[in-house]
Amino acid sequence: MGGALEDTICAIATPVGEGGIGIVRVSGARAIGIASQVVRLRSGRSLQSVKSHTLYYADILFPRRVAGGADRLPAHAARSGGDLSIIDEGLVVVMRRPRSFTAEDVVEFHCHGGLLVLQTLCEALVASGARLAEPGEFTKRAFLNGRLDLAQAEAVLDTIRAKTAAGLKLAQDQLRGGLSSEIEAIRESLIRLLAHVEAAIDFAEEEIAFVQRDELLVTLRQTIDRLSYLLETGREGRILREGAKVAIIGRPNVGKSSLMNALLRTDRAIVTSIPGTTRDVLEEILNVKGVPVRLLDTAGLRDTLDPVEQEGIRRTRSAIERADVILAVIDGSQSLSAEDYAVLQEIRGKPSVVVLNKNDLPCSVDLTDPAVGEGRAFDAPIVSVSAKTGAGLNELRERLRGLLVRPDLEAGEGVVVTNLRHQSALVRTREALVHAVDSVTKALSDEFVALDLRAAADALGEITGAVTTDEILERIFSEFCIGK
Ligand code: GDP
Repeated sequence: MGGALEDTICAIATPVGEGGIGIVRVSGARAIGIASQVVRLRSGRSLQSVKSHTLYYADILFPRRVAGGADRLPAHAARSGGDLSIIDEGLVVVMRRPRSFTAEDVVEFHCHGGLLVLQTLCEALVASGARLAEPGEFTKRAFLNGRLDLAQAEAVLDTIRAKTAAGLKLAQDQLRGGLSSEIEAIRESLIRLLAHVEAAIDFAEEEIAFVQRDELLVTLRQTIDRLSYLLETGREGRILREGAKVAIIGRPNVGKSSLMNALLRTDRAIVTSIPGTTRDVLEEILNVKGVPVRLLDTAGLRDTLDPVEQEGIRRTRSAIERADVILAVIDGSQSLSAEDYAVLQEIRGKPSVVVLNKNDLPCSVDLTDPAVGEGRAFDAPIVSVSAKTGAGLNELRERLRGLLVRPDLEAGEGVVVTNLRHQSALVRTREALVHAVDSVTKALSDEFVALDLRAAADALGEITGAVTTDEILERIFSEFCIGK
């Protein structure tokens, strides 16, 4: 992705398909000049003279001159208007720099949302001197022009992809710079320390203690703690963003499929395919009180959960390992079987809910049984439900949500690190600081400490893009769709 920043770029910004409105966006130094060749404002004004951030009614035209003759004209644009052919009519808006998404001059055309109209307009713009944008190029420019830092640019993508209210809120916090300011504050404090340590190296002979080793250790340890805390928010962040993995396990016929279907009936959030990305798959996500939940495909368990059958146990264990939370289903209308005990054994020590299903039927489970009753050996809550009537499902949702996210996350307090790239940078920062502590406590030369501090600050800088490489940028922006 080596698109030059001097180019003026254009792309269809709305999803491909038929829609009431479709938007084509142009950005770059020559955006207004190029756009002016394909519009004729109904008011007769020139595009150069219009007010910024104001919509104008216009004819959108294919410039025959620049297209190199009528041959290049799309058939449908044959209606002639002097040396121009009308593609569509619509609204056009100029956003002068730096008050635009990219911080460059931007022109947007709001046309009818047909693919041919939008493609023809793009062709007309290219014929007039623009270049088609690469995936994510608008957002990349916003970053390169200092409008957004890297974490904020990534939040744009998270906003587009958000599947639940909670995920959207996290993305918006990040877009507004919540994460960035936290990271930058830590980074600045590391750079201050580094400056002191480097000064101590430079003036070593003068025996001035620029930083007391004790003070240095205190600050380093505090920073390590803070990084650990931020990393801990990652699990919840991932859950809110990508969905918690929930496994429904239990012996055959307890009602696992019925429960899954009952939840899907009421809570199905989205069935989506994300074209143009590596995640081009169908995903089924439940919205459990604002938390996205992905039900693990444990269909294979259905007929194999026989405790004496190794394959059944193996599959259950693998599902349990992958899951954030386990729903262990028991048929409440029957007394506990050896298989049920085996299931209860498997979930020990794992975040789980025991679901006593079929409560529309008389209960046959002995609730004084130490396996499930008072004083039971595990601390998973038990919820009595009926997959058939829907009774108890609400309590089940509450319990599930409680196991997945802390209540204070709901209040939206604090920064949450949701992004794997950010987490990996935090891990490397922490490692470097642990190393620095080691060097200080072993009274190694200041040079070693300085090296570690530099590595820590650089790793942290990757999050906001203060320190970055083409490779990192390429990886991030290639995830975007064209037009963003
Ligand atoms: P699985 O093998 O664990 O997936 O169980 P199924 O979902 O296939 O259910 C097994 C049987 O129990 C089916 O005949 C369901 O109709 C029935 N069943 C499931 N949930 C309930 C419930 O809440 N109440 C009653 N009465 N029957 C249920």
